[in-house]
Amino acid sequence: MENCISLGIGEPDFDTPAEVITQAMDDVHKGYTHYAPAQGDPELLQLLSGQLSQETGLEIPKSNIVVTPGGMGALSAALQAVLEPGDEVIIPEPYFPAYNAHVIMAGGSVVPVPTSFGNGFTLRPDDLERVVTSRTKALILNSPNNPTGNVLDNKTLDELAEIVREKDLIVLSDEVYDRMVFEGRFESIVTRPGMIEQTVVIKSCSKTFAMTGWRVGYAFGPTWLMPQMIKVVNYATTCVNSPGQRAALAALRMDQSPFIAMSESFQRRVGLLWKRLQEIPGIQCHRPAGSFYLFPDISTVNPDSKDFALSLLEEEKVLVIPGAAFGQSGEGCVRIAGTVGEEKLEKAMDRLQRFVHKNQSHL
Ligand code: PLP
Repeated sequence: MENCISLGIGEPDFDTPAEVITQAMDDVHKGYTHYAPAQGDPELLQLLSGQLSQETGLEIPKSNIVVTPGGMGALSAALQAVLEPGDEVIIPEPYFPAYNAHVIMAGGSVVPVPTSFGNGFTLRPDDLERVVTSRTKALILNSPNNPTGNVLDNKTLDELAEIVREKDLIVLSDEVYDRMVFEGRFESIVTRPGMIEQTVVIKSCSKTFAMTGWRVGYAFGPTWLMPQMIKVVNYATTCVNSPGQRAALAALRMDQSPFIAMSESFQRRVGLLWKRLQEIPGIQCHRPAGSFYLFPDISTVNPDSKDFALSLLEEEKVLVIPGAAFGQSGEGCVRIAGTVGEEKLEKAMDRLQRFVHKNQSHL
């Protein structure tokens, strides 16, 4: 479709910085073309151990870290290491659709916990407690959240951690948007008392360093679990590609200002989109606290999010994702990704405004 503005895919529009590419290619010329150890490049693991220990205030030894093919690889390896057939995994809904597939592939079943626009799409501890059964093995948390932009606050994290400890669950904490928190610093459930023993933290270079195609992520977790997870990564993938791991090393080591500039740019774009959405009568939207997504409620224009998204695409050539793609509790909303420049975003919002105006007058 010509002249279409896609606010669909959740991928940074920035290219990997030249410094990262140059260093990775230099390393390739030096011979980093062989298998890496299954757990990860030793230098990368060493660096991660230092940085993760500093960030969390916990001791994260090299032996408790594994490098994976993106955050996705960490997610699937964690679920395969943890689940027995028939185990239940609780996931606050709406959620990143890949979770469902990975739980099923690992032999488990998903128990969604609906959240709603009314409570800002935050998981309420009471709602979590209500769905725990004797078969519940794990809880997947994703903060900052795709698709809603919700960031779990300290009090909620404390309360969720208490339930997780009491019910003896494992948390998979998907933190791939951790550098995109707009106010205050990023907080992880793993730093709550005792939670290091019950949490697998999933990180990724994809969004943080604009490195989606390099396929590098990593995870850390408890001593009782990580050797099993490393085995899964070993047999599933042998190792993450060596050039990608050298690129990750370069990105983590270099001056972080290009990456800070990227996340500031996402914050500005999200602010712009939110402001423009506020000006459209009939659309409601929470101001995202992180990520680069907005999840406005469009139900007064059209309660069917797929129909809304298809009509918007046909009539105005703006692509957004129907909220129902993220589970039933996403119905009535659409996901907008701030992954194009500000000029295009303004143009997309002009088109959306015209679309809503036109379609509302039909009601
Ligand atoms: N987790 C969430 C919430 C995501 O949105 C994505 C990608 O969109 C991923 C994990 C996986 O990303 P990657 O495998 O590129 O690290």
